[in-house]
Amino acid sequence: MKILIAGSEMSPLVKTGGLGDVLGSLPEALHKLGNDVRMFLPYYRTINKLKHKTQTILSEASLRLPSGTIEYQVELLLNKNSSVGQFLIVNDIYFGREGIYFDPATNSEYSDNDERYAFFCRAILDSVQRQNWQPDIIHVNDWHTSLIPVYLKTNEKKNKFFEATRTVLTIHNMAYQGRFDKERFELLGLPHELIKVSGAMEGSGQTNFLKGGISFSDKIVTVSQTYAKEIQNDQGCGLESLLKKRANDLCGIINGVDYSVWDPAKDKHIFANYQISNLSGKKVNKIELLNEIGLPVRNQVPLIGLVTRLVEQKGIGLILQSAQKLFESDIQMVVLGTGDKKLEQELAALASKYPDKLKAFFEFNEVLAHQIEAASDIFLMPSLFEPCGLNQMYSFKYGTVPVVHKVGGLADTVTEFDPETGEGNGFLFDKFDSDSMLAALNRATLLYQKKRSWTKLMKNGMKLDLSWNKSARSYHDLFINLVNGGDK
Ligand code: ADP
Repeated sequence: MKILIAGSEMSPLVKTGGLGDVLGSLPEALHKLGNDVRMFLPYYRTINKLKHKTQTILSEASLRLPSGTIEYQVELLLNKNSSVGQFLIVNDIYFGREGIYFDPATNSEYSDNDERYAFFCRAILDSVQRQNWQPDIIHVNDWHTSLIPVYLKTNEKKNKFFEATRTVLTIHNMAYQGRFDKERFELLGLPHELIKVSGAMEGSGQTNFLKGGISFSDKIVTVSQTYAKEIQNDQGCGLESLLKKRANDLCGIINGVDYSVWDPAKDKHIFANYQISNLSGKKVNKIELLNEIGLPVRNQVPLIGLVTRLVEQKGIGLILQSAQKLFESDIQMVVLGTGDKKLEQELAALASKYPDKLKAFFEFNEVLAHQIEAASDIFLMPSLFEPCGLNQMYSFKYGTVPVVHKVGGLADTVTEFDPETGEGNGFLFDKFDSDSMLAALNRATLLYQKKRSWTKLMKNGMKLDLSWNKSARSYHDLFINLVNGGDK
């Protein structure tokens, strides 16, 4: 099968969250299943700065858009570590900027994100025609590439080149829909009926890219089975009824872990490697990290780690609300995150109030993220909602016990540890409030003192195989079924 994957991030080149991780590993896993996979990504300035070698595939291509003729090039990344064709759409006006979605100078979203990603979608469709490479499947991800199925079912409807092409949209997070001022709709070059009230791209008086993707994709995937149900009920962020209408074409496929990046036995970022048969390296990681970040080394005290975007979704509010009780108990905590400035300030204030217990770092730091996974005893994810969540799955492999709110992908991967039977891999809380979170943390910290049970719990997680093998197969089967007879 010829599979085109389109997305706005791809780890390690460009990543702001889980989308980058997924698009850094799923294409490779689909290639291993015998597919011809090509990944398309914007050529952001941040990628350019990495000085990767590229080969020009298309020079001087151009597109006629409502705003005028826009030139672009296509570069193929010469990446020895990848068997997948990684194609970069080059246009400096749209992508040669300091930030990805946000302008670091103003800390606000680029005001022309609609135009930027509409251009990206159209350039992908244009470039594969110029290269005469006819995809069987175009797999789009989140709102940034949601316009591809829209263009295919409208402007390109009669284009024979795409006659046999089927589209699949993966929704990584319903909270980000790509909503824009309706006045700018003309810039997308799409039929006006889409933006009429209740049209396929209209929502609450705005242009809605994700709604377009949901309306026009042949199949829709989201990143866990529980989230697939939740988004048809109270987590659909306004698109519940549309998702319900498309329920027969919607399914959940949990993300996989890339163990070539997230495995304590070979992780290059951590202080000492370790594995299930010899856990001594885990202690080294804890001591080294505590020393490095300036927390006292206290082996009997559990270290709680958090690596996250600092946004309301991630439940940081619960930590702030329960701070007094939390930091008066005998724990230590390290937080790594970026995002909401107010949350950063509040966490910084807590860190100064409890200097021996809490350290917080407000940066995007891949190395520190790995070190926190390896050093922590407990990994806390009190998310209000969580489509899949990757860190709980990374935590399993690192023998770091997840304590999570029972929602979305967290509910699908974490099971409550039962000290009687020795089964389970973490701790969950049902109700989204600080007392329930503290109760789950309390169960964890009490068990931490019982070394044999704790080691059993750590090993239960470490034994799991959450690699892409199974999930990539689910995508593959979905694609094959669609190619062999799904309706367009
Ligand atoms: P989301 O996509 O909602 O951000 P996920 O759990 O799916 O959440 O994925 C988050 C990914 O981003 C993980 O790989 C996590 O380690 C990483 N991450 C989040 N914040 C940071 C940060 N400040 N520094 C380094 N990595 C981070």
